[in-house]
Amino acid sequence: MTKKRLFVDLDGVCAGFDEHYLATFGKDLRQGAVSDEELWANVDSYEGDFFYDLPVLPGTREALQTLRDRGYEIVYLTACPASNYGYVAQQKHDWVRMKLEDQEALVIPIVGGKNKAKLIQFQGDVLIDDFHKNTQAWSDAGGEPILHTDWAKSLLTLEALHA
Ligand SMILES: [Mg+2]
Repeated sequence: MTKKRLFVDLDGVCAGFDEHYLATFGKDLRQGAVSDEELWANVDSYEGDFFYDLPVLPGTREALQTLRDRGYEIVYLTACPASNYGYVAQQKHDWVRMKLEDQEALVIPIVGGKNKAKLIQFQGDVLIDDFHKNTQAWSDAGGEPILHTDWAKSLLTLEALHA
Protein backbone atom coordinates (compact mmCIF):
# COMPACT_ATOMS: atom_id res chain seq x y z
CA MET A 1 0.00 0.00 0.00
CA THR A 2 1.26 3.46 -0.85
CA LYS A 3 1.59 5.60 2.22
CA LYS A 4 -0.87 8.46 2.44
CA ARG A 5 0.86 11.74 3.15
CA LEU A 6 -0.45 13.83 6.00
CA PHE A 7 0.65 17.40 6.69
CA VAL A 8 0.59 18.21 10.41
CA ASP A 9 1.00 21.65 11.99
CA LEU A 10 3.18 22.00 15.09
CA ASP A 11 2.07 24.98 17.23
CA GLY A 12 -1.40 24.41 18.65
CA VAL A 13 -1.55 20.84 17.33
CA CYS A 14 1.60 19.10 18.60
CA ALA A 15 3.37 21.90 20.49
CA GLY A 16 1.93 24.04 23.29
CA PHE A 17 2.83 27.56 22.13
CA ASP A 18 -0.08 29.22 23.96
CA GLU A 19 0.55 27.14 27.09
CA HIS A 20 4.24 28.05 27.22
CA TYR A 21 3.49 31.71 26.50
CA LEU A 22 0.99 31.81 29.37
CA ALA A 23 3.38 30.04 31.76
CA THR A 24 6.25 32.38 30.81
CA PHE A 25 4.64 35.77 30.25
CA GLY A 26 1.37 35.43 32.20
CA LYS A 27 -0.95 36.20 29.28
CA ASP A 28 -3.49 33.93 27.66
CA LEU A 29 -3.25 34.31 23.88
CA ARG A 30 -6.54 32.48 23.43
CA GLN A 31 -8.25 35.48 24.97
CA GLY A 32 -6.81 37.60 22.17
CA ALA A 33 -5.55 40.50 24.28
CA VAL A 34 -1.96 40.47 22.99
CA SER A 35 -0.85 42.34 19.86
CA ASP A 36 1.52 40.63 17.41
CA GLU A 37 4.09 43.28 18.26
CA GLU A 38 3.97 42.51 21.97
CA LEU A 39 3.90 38.76 21.34
CA TRP A 40 7.08 38.71 19.24
CA ALA A 41 8.85 41.23 21.48
CA ASN A 42 8.23 38.87 24.39
CA VAL A 43 9.29 35.76 22.48
CA ASP A 44 12.46 37.57 21.30
CA SER A 45 13.25 38.55 24.90
CA TYR A 46 12.99 34.95 26.11
CA GLU A 47 16.12 33.61 27.78
CA GLY A 48 16.85 30.49 25.76
CA ASP A 49 15.11 28.89 22.83
CA PHE A 50 11.38 29.58 23.14
CA PHE A 51 10.21 27.18 20.45
CA TYR A 52 12.51 24.42 21.58
CA ASP A 53 11.10 24.69 25.11
CA LEU A 54 7.45 24.20 24.08
CA PRO A 55 5.68 21.30 25.81
CA VAL A 56 4.30 18.41 23.80
CA LEU A 57 0.50 18.73 23.90
CA PRO A 58 -1.36 15.87 25.63
CA GLY A 59 -2.14 12.92 23.43
CA THR A 60 0.16 14.01 20.61
CA ARG A 61 2.67 11.15 20.70
CA GLU A 62 -0.10 8.57 20.91
CA ALA A 63 -2.06 10.17 18.06
CA LEU A 64 1.00 10.33 15.81
CA GLN A 65 1.71 6.68 16.48
CA THR A 66 -1.91 5.81 15.65
CA LEU A 67 -1.53 7.68 12.35
CA ARG A 68 1.69 5.84 11.48
CA ASP A 69 -0.01 2.55 12.36
CA ARG A 70 -2.81 3.49 9.95
CA GLY A 71 -0.22 3.87 7.20
CA TYR A 72 0.18 7.64 7.05
CA GLU A 73 3.45 9.38 6.27
CA ILE A 74 3.59 12.43 8.52
CA VAL A 75 5.10 15.68 7.26
CA TYR A 76 5.35 18.51 9.79
CA LEU A 77 4.38 21.78 8.17
CA THR A 78 5.02 24.75 10.41
CA ALA A 79 5.09 28.52 10.03
CA CYS A 80 8.02 30.62 11.24
CA PRO A 81 8.33 34.41 11.58
CA ALA A 82 10.15 36.07 8.67
CA SER A 83 12.23 38.16 11.07
CA ASN A 84 13.88 35.16 12.71
CA TYR A 85 13.36 32.45 10.15
CA GLY A 86 16.58 30.42 10.35
CA TYR A 87 16.77 30.41 14.12
CA VAL A 88 13.14 29.38 14.64
CA ALA A 89 13.23 26.82 11.82
CA GLN A 90 16.20 25.11 13.46
CA GLN A 91 14.42 25.01 16.84
CA LYS A 92 11.35 23.44 15.27
CA HIS A 93 13.43 20.83 13.49
CA ASP A 94 15.23 20.00 16.75
CA TRP A 95 11.93 19.95 18.64
CA VAL A 96 10.47 17.25 16.37
CA ARG A 97 13.62 15.14 16.65
CA MET A 98 14.05 15.50 20.42
CA LYS A 99 10.61 16.12 21.93
CA LEU A 100 8.54 13.97 19.58
CA GLU A 101 11.43 11.55 19.18
CA ASP A 102 10.67 11.46 15.47
CA GLN A 103 13.92 10.94 13.60
CA GLU A 104 12.48 10.29 10.17
CA ALA A 105 9.66 12.62 9.24
CA LEU A 106 10.18 15.66 7.05
CA VAL A 107 9.93 18.98 8.88
CA ILE A 108 9.03 21.84 6.55
CA PRO A 109 9.26 25.32 8.09
CA ILE A 110 7.76 28.07 5.95
CA VAL A 111 7.14 31.78 6.34
CA GLY A 112 3.45 32.65 6.64
CA GLY A 113 0.81 30.12 7.60
CA LYS A 114 -1.33 30.90 4.57
CA ASN A 115 1.56 29.79 2.37
CA LYS A 116 1.18 26.27 3.70
CA ALA A 117 -1.31 25.74 0.86
CA LYS A 118 1.56 26.12 -1.64
CA LEU A 119 2.88 22.80 -0.35
CA ILE A 120 -0.12 20.85 -1.62
CA GLN A 121 1.25 18.19 -3.94
CA PHE A 122 -1.97 16.45 -4.94
CA GLN A 123 -5.64 17.37 -4.74
CA GLY A 124 -7.02 15.98 -1.50
CA ASP A 125 -3.77 16.19 0.49
CA VAL A 126 -4.74 16.54 4.14
CA LEU A 127 -3.54 19.25 6.54
CA ILE A 128 -4.28 19.13 10.28
CA ASP A 129 -4.00 22.72 11.58
CA ASP A 130 -5.56 24.72 14.41
CA PHE A 131 -5.70 28.07 12.57
CA HIS A 132 -8.75 28.80 10.45
CA LYS A 133 -6.95 31.07 7.96
CA ASN A 134 -4.57 28.22 7.19
CA THR A 135 -7.27 25.60 6.75
CA GLN A 136 -9.30 28.00 4.59
CA ALA A 137 -6.32 28.68 2.29
CA TRP A 138 -5.64 24.93 2.15
CA SER A 139 -9.23 24.23 1.18
CA ASP A 140 -9.26 27.02 -1.43
CA ALA A 141 -6.20 25.44 -3.05
CA GLY A 142 -7.82 22.02 -3.37
CA GLY A 143 -6.61 20.34 -0.20
CA GLU A 144 -8.61 18.65 2.55
CA PRO A 145 -8.14 20.55 5.80
CA ILE A 146 -8.95 19.38 9.30
CA LEU A 147 -9.41 22.29 11.71
CA HIS A 148 -7.81 20.89 14.82
CA THR A 149 -9.18 21.35 18.31
CA ASP A 150 -8.05 18.09 19.88
CA TRP A 151 -6.53 14.83 18.70
CA ALA A 152 -9.57 12.65 19.39
CA LYS A 153 -11.69 14.80 17.04
CA SER A 154 -9.03 15.10 14.36
CA LEU A 155 -8.49 11.32 14.27
CA LEU A 156 -12.24 10.77 13.89
CA THR A 157 -12.51 13.38 11.14
CA LEU A 158 -9.63 11.81 9.25
CA GLU A 159 -11.16 8.38 9.60
CA ALA A 160 -14.42 9.65 8.10
CA LEU A 161 -12.54 11.40 5.30
CA HIS A 162 -10.74 8.27 4.20
CA ALA A 163 -13.45 5.73 5.01
MG1 LIG B 1 -0.91 26.17 14.62
